[in-house]
Amino acid sequence: MHAENQPLHLRNVRLPQDEEPTDIHIADGRIRAIGGQSAPDPGDEEIDARGALLLPGFIDSHCHVDKTMWGGPWTAHTAGPDVADRIANERERRFDVGYPSGNRIRALLEQMSNSGTTHIRTHTDVDPDVGLRGMEEVAAAAAAMVGRIDVQQVAFPQQGVVTRPGTASLLRDAVEMGATAIGGVDPAGFDDDPIGQLKAIFGLACDLDSEIDIHLHDPGELGMWQVKAIIDWTRRTGMEGRVTISHAFCLGTTPAVEAAGVLDGLAETRISLTTAAVFSKPVLPVRTLFEAGINLGCGSDGIRDLWSPYGNGDMLERAMFVAYRNDLRRDEDIELALGAATYNGARILGLEAYGLEVGCAADMVLVPARNLAEAVVAHPQRALVVKNGRIIVNNFN
Ligand SMILES: [Zn+2]
Repeated sequence: MHAENQPLHLRNVRLPQDEEPTDIHIADGRIRAIGGQSAPDPGDEEIDARGALLLPGFIDSHCHVDKTMWGGPWTAHTAGPDVADRIANERERRFDVGYPSGNRIRALLEQMSNSGTTHIRTHTDVDPDVGLRGMEEVAAAAAAMVGRIDVQQVAFPQQGVVTRPGTASLLRDAVEMGATAIGGVDPAGFDDDPIGQLKAIFGLACDLDSEIDIHLHDPGELGMWQVKAIIDWTRRTGMEGRVTISHAFCLGTTPAVEAAGVLDGLAETRISLTTAAVFSKPVLPVRTLFEAGINLGCGSDGIRDLWSPYGNGDMLERAMFVAYRNDLRRDEDIELALGAATYNGARILGLEAYGLEVGCAADMVLVPARNLAEAVVAHPQRALVVKNGRIIVNNFN
């Protein structure tokens, strides 16, 4: 049995860049030594990794754990085909199906942690009907899971800001109780007042020193117009490096050449993007964004909720979806999709000491794969999950 603070010595670990397996020494929640510098001390727990590949802990930079039915009854999908239909359906049914449920949120966090996710950014509904109850339930579940998974909340106005009076002041309260970002949703297509919504959320974020993460489903020209507006607001308010646009389907359909000015604007303002590669929705172009210097994270989006019956919180599988939907076949391209679920996500969450270097937090996953591309393609069962130096999953025994 691995004691809480017992140092850990992993033998025969394969590092992504190396042919030969090596050793990793972990103590006090950090990576203390890699390779030749390392030797087991008496009292270390030793694990023979048998050549398994080492990956950093996975980052789910866009999910909605407050809405999940995970661990609850099967919930048949009843919404119409559009975003507005799903919002209306959720508004009608969510309290009947027990939203928000602390037990289900916790069950999902356990599932995510067991699959190697060590940090998430989750968008929690905030509106006059539910108030801050979703925020409270997620915070309580996260507190119960301290040391296994770290949770950041976005105060998310799923039902709009302008069209739902009272929401803006609740967003403020949500940040005061711990949300690290203010959300937004289709300022034009859903709220029907793009300037009104952007003014409200950028005003709040500046006032409260919080980040911004906006859901943008609006397609085509309407979407592109809003991307440009968000770039403009980011510049005007000095929010460079603190804004994320989630989904941004419009950037998955507009030819890159046409969007060239927009890509430059996103890179200059250091706006991050997230994709979930869901259904037949446009997926953000991984290689184009990488070459343009734009940070792309990925996430599960909704998992088993009133928006969709799908999802399991497995970020290695999600990276596969991102790669597959992007038509990525070469190893170096598939690695970019894994980057979205690891290093790029860590950038969005503002994590320090993330990675596989000496001194980094010991958040890591071992999988039976020969290289990163195979890890994504096969997304095999996790052999070992370590969070803050503590063993979460050990399938070597
Ligand atoms: Zn979402």
